[in-house]
Amino acid sequence: MKVKVDQDLCIACGICEGDLPEVFHIGDSGFAEVIMCPVEADFHDMLQQVAEACPTAAIQIKEAKCSEQKAETPKGACRGADASKPIEDVSTNTNPERNVNMKIKVVEDLCIGCGICEGIAPEVFSLETEPYAVVLLEAIPEELQADVREAADACPEAAIEIEE
Ligand code: SF4
Ligand code: SF4
Repeated sequence: MKVKVDQDLCIACGICEGDLPEVFHIGDSGFAEVIMCPVEADFHDMLQQVAEACPTAAIQIKEAKCSEQKAETPKGACRGADASKPIEDVSTNTNPERNVNMKIKVVEDLCIGCGICEGIAPEVFSLETEPYAVVLLEAIPEELQADVREAADACPEAAIEIEE
């Protein structure tokens, strides 16, 4: 299960962090940030409750069963059948920001190795060989660009740079 906070909606009330500090943190931005994604199964019920309790509906949950199987699934195969289609992101196919020439890099000095990016886009990011995230693809195919943008937004250190 994946989650993100729409920071345009968040009013930094702190409810999410108070109820589920394993997943949410009021960060330097002053708004709630996600610190665990995908969210471990133990927290799914509470996550649903917190999302319902958020006064501005800023918490967006995506069912992502495929990602939760990442540990047992060969790298690159995780998002096969199900996840090749964005889970509920119907905007992906019409996103004007998509660019067939997208390239990205991780700034090693900024990366803290939290693994959020790998959780969101395991085809693109890996922490298997280094303490920081390594980019696996030289160019990002269109079908992965939405995930890459999501990972860049979720990165707590803004370590993911998108070059287009
Ligand atoms: S509960 Fe909602 S509005 Fe409050 S801090 Fe969390 S995400 Fe922001
Ligand atoms: S690039 Fe960002 S999200 Fe990925 S491991 Fe590093 S700090 Fe975490």
